[in-house]
Amino acid sequence: MELKPCPVCGCKPLLYSEDEVMCVNVHCSVHGKVTKKRIWNIRAEIVNRDSQILKELVQEHRMKSNLEKIRMRFSGNSE
Ligand SMILES: [Zn+2]
Repeated sequence: MELKPCPVCGCKPLLYSEDEVMCVNVHCSVHGKVTKKRIWNIRAEIVNRDSQILKELVQEHRMKSNLEKIRMRFSGNSE
């Protein structure tokens, strides 16, 4: 099973036992917490998906505020 990077810090996980992993980063909030590989990957996937959704939302917001700026500029020029 391929392991995804740490859901909290993005570090590579350390194989703790045949079925368990933990984060190697000592500054990470989940450091030292041994987790089943399957759970680890599910968490990482959820984090990935959430950050993707967040990116899209930010992009949409930027697009909207850009449109707003263009509109303002045009309405300013017409007067
Ligand atoms: Zn970590």
